[in-house]
Amino acid sequence: MAAVPVHDESRFGYLKPSDVARLADAYRFSESAHAGQTRQSGDPYISHPLAVAEILAGWHLDGQALVAALLHDVMEDTSVTKAEISDTFGKPVAELVDGVSKLDKIEFQSAEDAQAENFRKMLLAMARDVRVILIKLADRLHNMRTLAAVAPAKRRRVAQETMEIYAPIANRLGLNALFHELQELAFAHMHPMRYRVLAKATRAARGNRREVIGKIEAAVRARLAEAGVAAGVSGREKHLYSIYRKMIEKHLSFAEVHDMYGFRIVVKDQPTCYLTLGLLHGLYKPVPGKFKDYIAIPKANGYQSLHTALIGPYGVPVEVQIRTEQMHRLAEAGVASHWMYKSEVDSLSDLQKKTHQWLQSLLEIQSQSGDSHEFLEHVKVDLFPDEVYVFTPKGRIMSLPRGATAVDFAYAVHTDIGNRCVAAKVNGELVPLRSELRNGDRIEIITTGYAKPNPAWLQYVRTGKARSNIRHFLKTMQYDESAALGERLLEQALKAVGQSTAAIEQANWERTVRDSGARSRQELLADIGLGRRLPAVVARRLLRRSEREDARGGGPRGAGASVVIRGTEGMAVQLASCCRPIPGDAIVGSMKKGQGLVVHTAECRQAARSRRVEPEQWLDVEWDRKTSRLFQAAIRVTVANQRGVLAKVASEIAQAGSNIDSISMEEDRAVYTTMLFVLEVGNRQHLARVMRQLRRLPEVEKLARVRE
Ligand code: MN
Repeated sequence: MAAVPVHDESRFGYLKPSDVARLADAYRFSESAHAGQTRQSGDPYISHPLAVAEILAGWHLDGQALVAALLHDVMEDTSVTKAEISDTFGKPVAELVDGVSKLDKIEFQSAEDAQAENFRKMLLAMARDVRVILIKLADRLHNMRTLAAVAPAKRRRVAQETMEIYAPIANRLGLNALFHELQELAFAHMHPMRYRVLAKATRAARGNRREVIGKIEAAVRARLAEAGVAAGVSGREKHLYSIYRKMIEKHLSFAEVHDMYGFRIVVKDQPTCYLTLGLLHGLYKPVPGKFKDYIAIPKANGYQSLHTALIGPYGVPVEVQIRTEQMHRLAEAGVASHWMYKSEVDSLSDLQKKTHQWLQSLLEIQSQSGDSHEFLEHVKVDLFPDEVYVFTPKGRIMSLPRGATAVDFAYAVHTDIGNRCVAAKVNGELVPLRSELRNGDRIEIITTGYAKPNPAWLQYVRTGKARSNIRHFLKTMQYDESAALGERLLEQALKAVGQSTAAIEQANWERTVRDSGARSRQELLADIGLGRRLPAVVARRLLRRSEREDARGGGPRGAGASVVIRGTEGMAVQLASCCRPIPGDAIVGSMKKGQGLVVHTAECRQAARSRRVEPEQWLDVEWDRKTSRLFQAAIRVTVANQRGVLAKVASEIAQAGSNIDSISMEEDRAVYTTMLFVLEVGNRQHLARVMRQLRRLPEVEKLARVRE
């Protein structure tokens, strides 16, 4: 067994001794968990988590992150559980390992650009802690460095995923060196031939130019020294992938692209950057249109530098980047630069603060250029999205606002799916429609042909699309149901004067609709159903009769003709919740403007009061002889306070063929308890049967139907 390499001072020396000791513990833990496992290369598995930890040590990440890096594959590949990690290494480490394992589980499939963008956002949103992403990126980097050992088909897939997903995330986080290395490795494995050819050509070209480049570099150094500017000057290797991209995108030959040679100049402060720029432009002629001031206007990930291109001796073009030490760190390591350079021992553990600092520093940079608002939005959206990203059954990613439910998802897929959804499966499990969705969930919506939107959905949907579609559907449905009721009310009014709708001529209909200012017959009927027009008035218009004629020939109002209530009128007919009428009860109805018909029991006191005040709103109604649905009725039961009495009552109710809709306890005294049940019954006889059955229980002291 190899010696525990975490004693290597050069790599881990920045950590506290106690952290180094924990690292050694984690190494041993991981090594024994992975014992017997090997990588494709034949190396013992532990070499991989160790390499990942070393990469993170290069960014000076804190002890927790390094411990988590050593353990990052144990949950996935061995029998170790999150609880075990938590017990041994603490909850924060367990959360980090869990976070990385979760990212490993979701797989990217689609090749579409927009989907790749969503997938990147999903990963960032799932990670929550930026250290999870950094561990994942280090993991990917080591896997890419050792990808040659993997079978070719898998190699290509991993390389492509790296190019589309992980390299852009590294770029987003400002991890520039990582970004380029991932891109180069991915390019090499996606197009091995092209990579080799380009690499060879670049080496050759560089050899040819060595002399002139040396000359330019010496001239630059001399000019800076002359002006008293202390600067680090270094040659900059062009990345093969960016040469390749330029050739493809700008249709350039290799000779045209590679021709650019690059320098990087690092100076002490910002004014010196501009001074240096001036000196260089005095030394060689600048290429017009090539100067870019990323100091005044930083890139979205915080990158700052001055870029310019010069024409050197023999017409050799030279690209130059000028930046301060601090800009250089940020350019190389982005979000990780705060671990690398500002770390005070006690603040190392405070990750949120670190991430915040990074954002803050980006903000400060940005505020100099004045466009901070847009920039902040950009960064915020990327790092802490207000959205959740979920999968459709086919693997498409949809983004929804945080807090969105299965109903929102259904409407996001298609309005018809939303209107007909009855249940949802999240990750294969049946859940209620109101369930809030989480990042990475795979959602399947179950629909049926007869399902309709439920008004209760409006209480929890988050998206405007779901809300407006539900509202629209309910409105349309109510309109249709109101029109059906209106037609029956009109029929009744006509019957009262010895006529019927069947006898009305089409021309009379058209005239009446026009005279009423309605747009259609359906609208006129819906208005009646909604209580906006009186059926008797519309009937008179249809018959071209005056009120007086009506009084002479029509007989008493409404005689022998009442509206029949079937219980299937939907939203056009409401059963009053004060008295809860059921078939068999004597009932009365009132037309409420805009609401339709509200039905009360004849003895309801609330109804009686309103009848005295507004008699004109009331009309005769009666139950249809055959109703098939269940209706709600309330009963009050006072029982002896004994163990299990509620269960007894409930089972009697069930045995009598009724459902309990809700239960509430009215009072809780020592001896008796009064319970209020809302039951579902078919009619009065059914309710009587339920009550008879309950009376038989010795525990039942008092029992009555609630009518108020
Ligand atoms: Mn791994």
